[in-house]
Amino acid sequence: MGKKRVPSRRGFSAAESPDYHAFSQEILHSGHADLPLAGFLRQTTLRLLEFFACEQVELAVRREDRCLRCRARTRRDAPPEVETHQQACDGVSLADCEKSCAGTMSESHSLSLPLMTAGTTIGRLRLMRAQQGRFSSHDQAARDALAQALASALFSQLDHAALRERIKELTCLYRLTQLAETPGITSTELFGGVARLLPDAWQYSEIAAARVVLDDVRYESARFDSCVACQSADIVVAGQKRGSIDVVYREPRPEMDEGPFLKEERNLIEAVARHLPPIIQRRQAAEEEQRLQEQLRHADRLATIGQLAAGVAHELNEPLGNILAFAQLAEKQPGLPRQAADDLEKVVAASLHAREVVKKLMLFARQMPPQKTLVDLNQVVEEGLGFLQTRCAKNGVALERRLSSHVPRITADPSQLNQVLVNLVVNAIQAMPDGGTLKLVTCAARGNVMLVVEDDGSGMTPEVLEKIFIPFFTTKDIDEGTGLGLAVVHGIITSHGGSIRASSEPDRGTRFEIRLPIRLPDDPQGASAEGEVDLHPIREV
Ligand code: ADP
Ligand code: MG
Repeated sequence: MGKKRVPSRRGFSAAESPDYHAFSQEILHSGHADLPLAGFLRQTTLRLLEFFACEQVELAVRREDRCLRCRARTRRDAPPEVETHQQACDGVSLADCEKSCAGTMSESHSLSLPLMTAGTTIGRLRLMRAQQGRFSSHDQAARDALAQALASALFSQLDHAALRERIKELTCLYRLTQLAETPGITSTELFGGVARLLPDAWQYSEIAAARVVLDDVRYESARFDSCVACQSADIVVAGQKRGSIDVVYREPRPEMDEGPFLKEERNLIEAVARHLPPIIQRRQAAEEEQRLQEQLRHADRLATIGQLAAGVAHELNEPLGNILAFAQLAEKQPGLPRQAADDLEKVVAASLHAREVVKKLMLFARQMPPQKTLVDLNQVVEEGLGFLQTRCAKNGVALERRLSSHVPRITADPSQLNQVLVNLVVNAIQAMPDGGTLKLVTCAARGNVMLVVEDDGSGMTPEVLEKIFIPFFTTKDIDEGTGLGLAVVHGIITSHGGSIRASSEPDRGTRFEIRLPIRLPDDPQGASAEGEVDLHPIREV
């Protein structure tokens, strides 16, 4: 037996034979390395190139209907060149596939070893030499043993890779479910969290980044910038595409099933895309419920304030009436000193003002039943605007009217409706100190008539918007507002069986939508929905 050694980069002389045993052991152990399959192939192919001191080594391994091939070549005065690619092997055996890809060197200088485990060919090793001579037939048995060790290592790598992918998939889906079930988690935390957990489940996690796009909002993991390869899946909620999931690699990697991505990764991204819609729907339902609860609480709060206001108004009404009556009586006394007459005049004026406030409180508390007749909403708007037009023009406010000719008459109190219009329009004018556009729309909508008053003025913060219907809530100076306008509007609309919605955004404007039911004896079904306007609320209460 000749002297055994693992050859250097220069190869070994004919007298020496390489230490197949030690090398086979090394290869066998490397099967347990935690490397992506392509990485393992590259590393092993380079080791084989050095061990056999050849010009070229090709290592091919079968993955289902595909063949992953790695080729390493020595180069003059440069490190060896390695390339990996995958191709379909459909129907053709690996051996045939190998033959068709064989190099151009003469057969005597090339050696092809099948890699088999349990009677199945899982790959093939091809060694090619041009100058160092033929492969010695003495080493045949040792080479076969090495091929077996290599087959074993490859098998364990394939097995490992499949298991690893499965574990990653399960871990990823488990973490996603955990995230979705975190109480009170915000959309940013949830979808941002999903984007952050995805890269770990991809083969080259160190260069992976991910992004979830939902309703045009982007949630990205760190370093989602440069991208050389991208794998995407659509998020489809109730049959509608609402966004996508994208996983990218920032650097090139060997070609696998789908660019550098694995088939398992395609399955995983699809699985995540399927997991998200039920989560999105559940969140939407919860948000809707919360909004309804909030609305209920708001209505409840207004009702309580209404009761209080009604009580106060009722208690004040009588003494106020007395003060006014007696002051007016006293005013009529002959020979009153001038000072006393002046003072009494002030008492009368203050009482009248206080009575107005009480009246408004009663309107808010629905203590003043509407005097109902058949009313044409368009006429109320036209007549109201007749008085307000000059004020609008003076403040640089352009009026835009879209009054539908299909608005049926409703049973309502015209003077109360006029009050609603005046209060809304005056607020709008006050919200546009530098001028703007005031839109007034009427239309019929599903058994209701609708009045929309919209301005592009200062708008409101959510905190202000929440309180606007509460009596005495105002953001204005004492001589500009009493905080009773919208409370009155709310009271009137509610006492007509209607509803009011406000939406607003700071610096963008405010929109009020009022719906009043059509209950005409000759039209019990209500009017058609013709002329309905599209609603895009900004932020509502
Ligand atoms: P007042 O006008 O006397 O302040 P309101 O009840 O009419 O009382 O309005 C309450 C508050 O709602 C106002 O002080 C203002 O802050 C806000 N508001 C009402 N309408 C608008 C509007 N069109 N644009 C901006 N803010 C408004
Ligand atoms: Mg007002």
